[in-house]
Amino acid sequence: MDCALVPPGPVREAGHHRPLAATTCDLDHHVIDDKTPFSGFGPFPIGHECVGTVVEAGPDCTDVAVGDVVGVAWHIACGTCAQCELGHTARCLRHGDAQYGLPVNGAWGGTFDELIRVPYADFNLAKLPAGVDPVHLASIGDNLALGWETVMPTVAGITDPKIAVFGCTRGRT
Ligand SMILES: [Zn+2]
Ligand SMILES: [Zn+2]
Repeated sequence: MDCALVPPGPVREAGHHRPLAATTCDLDHHVIDDKTPFSGFGPFPIGHECVGTVVEAGPDCTDVAVGDVVGVAWHIACGTCAQCELGHTARCLRHGDAQYGLPVNGAWGGTFDELIRVPYADFNLAKLPAGVDPVHLASIGDNLALGWETVMPTVAGITDPKIAVFGCTRGRT
């Protein structure tokens, strides 16, 4: 299993300040408000969306390296089981519903931690294009990706599609 350690928060290395970004999802608010079955298992680290810098890479990592600025997938997926190969990575047969920020099928840390361990890093990390502000893509591992996966197949082939976006977290408009 290859892995990488990715700090989602600001990091000081050799005097250089690297401001990176983590953000909240509506689920985090429900956990804090004790509105989920998981709240009673606390305390545990929360957060499952971030952009970070790779600070350590396992010997099997070939696609990511120390210093890469990456988006992190919200769930733990092996990338090679039958479900992952179908693109159903949130239902990985090896790790089930495991994700950062909740104590499900393991303790994976949260994206507001100092560091998180990312197994199968080649599969679960995506390098950001150069020049992109990490703050703008802090939710790329969950909310942005989910929005893309939800909308894009329905508008494929439509010229100039019109899209309306609705939604908010209760009490946090
Ligand atoms: Zn989420
Ligand atoms: Zn899998």
